[in-house]
Amino acid sequence: MTLKPPPLRNDCFSLPAGVDWTPVDEALSLLRARLRAVVGQEAVPLSAAVGRVLAADVIAQRANPPQPNTAVDGYGFAGAVPEGAHVMPLVPGRAAAGLAYRGAVPAGQAIRILTGAALPAGVETVILEEDVTLGTGEIAFRGPLKLGANTRKAGEDVAAGDVILPAGRVVTPADLALAAAAGLSDLVVYLPLRVGVLSTGDELREAGDAAAPGQIYDANRPMLLALLGQMGARPVDLGRVPDDRDALRARFDSARAEVDVILTSGGASAGDEDHVSALLRESGALQEWRIALKPGRPLALAMWDGVPVFGLPGNPVAALVCTLIFARPAIGLMAGSGWHSPQGFDLPAGFAKRKKPGRREYLRARVRDGRVEVFKSEGSGRISGLSWAEGLVELGDAAADIQPGDRVRFIPYGSFTL
Ligand code: AMP
Ligand code: MG
Repeated sequence: MTLKPPPLRNDCFSLPAGVDWTPVDEALSLLRARLRAVVGQEAVPLSAAVGRVLAADVIAQRANPPQPNTAVDGYGFAGAVPEGAHVMPLVPGRAAAGLAYRGAVPAGQAIRILTGAALPAGVETVILEEDVTLGTGEIAFRGPLKLGANTRKAGEDVAAGDVILPAGRVVTPADLALAAAAGLSDLVVYLPLRVGVLSTGDELREAGDAAAPGQIYDANRPMLLALLGQMGARPVDLGRVPDDRDALRARFDSARAEVDVILTSGGASAGDEDHVSALLRESGALQEWRIALKPGRPLALAMWDGVPVFGLPGNPVAALVCTLIFARPAIGLMAGSGWHSPQGFDLPAGFAKRKKPGRREYLRARVRDGRVEVFKSEGSGRISGLSWAEGLVELGDAAADIQPGDRVRFIPYGSFTL
C-alpha cells in the first residue's frame, strides 16, 4: 500500500501583506497552519515499527487479558470466603498457563492453579499457595477472601475495539508490547519523511580533504544529517554545491525525486553570493521570513517544484537554532507526527545579559548546580559553544535585562529529538 497525499500549495509560505519583522511565535503559527503530512503510508510488521509514525489509530483486536486468569500460583474456587478456618476438597488435575482446564470446578471444591492460567469454569477466587496447608486431596486455609481475589478480569487492561495507540504517535518499544498483546502483527505507519541536506558555499571542503587557505570544512552537513536522524526523519545527503546558480538549480532538480523536504545552509540572505535566496526568488516562490530572532538571519522558505525548501543561514550556530526552532516542528507535521513543542524548564539564570526587547534570543546553554550557564561568546561562528552546550536558553521577546537568579527557560537538546 503506497498512498501519497497531494502536494503542498506553492504559496503555502506566503506571509500576510504588510508584515515586517515576524515574531517567532507568529512564524511558528504560520508554519503550523500551512503544513501537513506529505508522506505516503505502508503496513509494517511490529519488528520494523519502532520509531515510525502511526498513520491510523490502532484498534485492539482482542482484549487483554483475553480471559479471566490468575495473578498468582495457588488454589481456585467459587465465590468469596468469610473469616475463619476452611477446608476444601481438591478436584484432580490442575490449570496452568496455556493449558486450559476442560472441566468445571463444583462449588465448595478447589483446584490447583498456576500464574497466568485461565480460570476454569466455576472458579472466581484464588488463594495464594503460601497461605494454604496442603493435605491429601484437600487444602486448609483461613478467610476472609474477597470475591475475585488474586485474579485478573478479562479486558481489565484493554477491551477489544479500544483505541490503544493514536494516529501520529511515534511507536515505542512498550507500544510493541501493547500492540502484540492486543492481537496486532502489523501497523500502518507513514513512510519516513526524507529530508535532504545540502551545503552551499565556494569555501567549503569535505572533512578529510586538503583545505587551502580561505577554505573551511563543511561543518553543517554532518550536524544536520545526524540531527534529522534523531528527529525521526530519514536524512538524505545531498552533498555540497559551490556558489553557482546553475549548479544549485541542477541539484534542486535532481533532489526532487529523492526527498520530501530540502534543508540548505548558506547563501540564504541578500548578498552577491547568496545564490540560494536568489535562485529561490527567481523560480521557487521564495518567501523570506524576517523573523525577530537571534541568531538567525532571514530564514528562506520556498517551494521547489512542490518540495518545501528551508534555506538556513550558513553560520553553524544559526543553522542549528533555525533547525531546532523552525525545521523541527515543521518536519514533525510533514512526517505525520503532528506539531512538536519542545519541553523547556524554568530555572534561575547563572548569568547576566542585556538584550533588545522585541526579539527572541536563543543562547547556547547548560545547567550546572541548578542554574543555567551560557557560553562565554555569542559569536555565531563559535562551533565549540554548540558542542559545549547541552541545550538552549530561550530569552522571551519582551525580556530586556536578565540578572543572575531571574528565571529563564532552558530547553535541553534532547527535547527537540525523539
Ligand atoms: P552564508 O550564510 O553563506 O553567508 O555563510 C555565513 C557563514 O557561515 C560564513 O562564514 C560561511 O563560511 C559559514 N558557513 C556556511 N556554510 C557552512 C558550513 N556548511 N559549515 C561551516 N560553515 C559554514
Ligand atoms: Mg555562503
